Amino acid sequence: MRRVSVFGATGSIGESTFDLLMRQGGAEAYDVVALTAGRNVARLAEQARALKPDVAVIADEASLPALREALAGTGIATAAGQAAVAEAAHRPADWIMSGIVGAAGLEPGFRALQHGTTLALANKESLVTAGPLLMAEAGARGATILPVDSEHSAVFQALAGEDMAAVETVTITASGGAFRDWPLERLARATVAEASTHPNWNMGQRITIDSASMFNKALEVIEAHEFFGLTPAQVEVLVHPESLLHALVSFRDGGMIGHLGAPDMRHAIGYALNWPERGHLPVARLDLARIGRLTFSAPDPHRYPALRLAREVMATGGLAGAAFNAAKEIALDAFIAGRIRFTDMASVVEETLDRLSGRESLGKRPGSLDMVLEMDRSARRVAAETLAELAAAERT
Ligand code: NAD
Ligand code: MG
Repeated sequence: MRRVSVFGATGSIGESTFDLLMRQGGAEAYDVVALTAGRNVARLAEQARALKPDVAVIADEASLPALREALAGTGIATAAGQAAVAEAAHRPADWIMSGIVGAAGLEPGFRALQHGTTLALANKESLVTAGPLLMAEAGARGATILPVDSEHSAVFQALAGEDMAAVETVTITASGGAFRDWPLERLARATVAEASTHPNWNMGQRITIDSASMFNKALEVIEAHEFFGLTPAQVEVLVHPESLLHALVSFRDGGMIGHLGAPDMRHAIGYALNWPERGHLPVARLDLARIGRLTFSAPDPHRYPALRLAREVMATGGLAGAAFNAAKEIALDAFIAGRIRFTDMASVVEETLDRLSGRESLGKRPGSLDMVLEMDRSARRVAAETLAELAAAERT
């Protein structure tokens, strides 16, 4: 039986993964090794009772007694804390879903790769913060990374059997998020609730807000650059409000191969789960005659400054991605907490990168996990200073 683990099992990606594992035979068909979650003990325990993993891990240490109680008598081991989550990645498994949100997902995925596993990578922050490190580790250990971001899964599928040397560009599409049709001057007043609804995809709150600001697409451009070994100029973004064409690969003979599908992450997750075969997946089939037309436009740089920042990050390279992601996470927390405006997020990230470029060697190659985590911490500190100054300036 295939040994599988799911990190971030209770999130949007985690629930879709759980759904597919259950539909494909559940505990009878898979030897489930570990399920991990942040704080949702009740849901983690339900999933564990269904999939019977060797261990269930909760990141929040205070939740350990509740998890123990919920799983008493099942024979499933329990553990808690961030270190226990990373520890669970050392348990041998053949297929691991990296579905934790944010930089917290980096270490478990990195540990899993060290064991030569197949890593289904939804956590885009991993490649943004430590792309060269992860790709080198995977290569050295004979591990496989399968992209699970819908656009990257689409590119991966379009590239099957192709020669990378024949690729001219890769285009990932963006819905444009919640505010694509808003007048620009209204963006500064956008509320958290407004930014937390996505026109097409049903996802976790953080990635949904990142879709409205296109920080999500900015991360994805860097992710594509790192994963497929493309130059920054080879990665393009196209606004496509219907979210049905996920990516396009353009070849030197003038041909383009695109990937269409319903906006349902179970396609990309199921593709990675069944790879190199294709399984039967419970994803809606597109009726293109009824849909009638698909529309495209170039992203507006004034509406989406995050895309320009992604270009600057790629030009700097090295640890700039780790700094960019950490500053973005701090800015996003501050927006969710009502401390800054929607449009301030990009300003905080840009200011943080400017300050760090004066103080640290941002472009240094990430040679170890510690280097990446150190840059992550520095950028969080500088972003917090930037936020405090912004708040002080607003008061005067
Ligand atoms: P989510 O917020 O719905 O779920 C995140 C999961 O991680 C939860 O299980 C949560 O408990 C856990 N978690 C959160 N913080 C943690 C911590 N510090 N330590 C350990 N566990 C922690 O997020 P999501 O939308 O499922 O996204 C997960 C990842 O997949 C993100 O990197 C996101 O960018 C990427 N992704 C998501 C989608 C989507 O459709 N949701 C699509 C493409 C890529
Ligand atoms: Mg995506």
